[in-house]
Amino acid sequence: MKAMVLTGIRQMEMIDVPEPRIEKDNEALIKIKVIGVCGSDVHYYVDGKIGSQVVQYPYRVGHECSGIVEKIGSAVNRVKVGDLVAIDPAQWCGACDQCKIGRENTCRNRNRSQYLTD
Ligand SMILES: [Zn+2]
Ligand SMILES: [Zn+2]
Repeated sequence: MKAMVLTGIRQMEMIDVPEPRIEKDNEALIKIKVIGVCGSDVHYYVDGKIGSQVVQYPYRVGHECSGIVEKIGSAVNRVKVGDLVAIDPAQWCGACDQCKIGRENTCRNRNRSQYLTD
């Protein structure tokens, strides 16, 4: 399949990438229908980084998106094929002080994209 990726500061390119597939039982495959441009995406495009997080190219922007569930792993039970879903790519720990007061968006142990470095 094709994907538009960042290849440098203010540079984007359409490249061939492998078809996405379910690799773990707890994953779902989503057919993306709508993508928002986040402030983070703008920083990645203009500066190639946000603070100490530096983009490693090629990098796919568009982490705020929604779509339709196409396939689910055998352990998935909260969505089913055909569901319309919105995607929050951040995973929070549920144990830090921020999570315990309901501010999962500022979790101190939130996962980070595998394409960024500190
Ligand atoms: Zn964002
Ligand atoms: Zn947390």
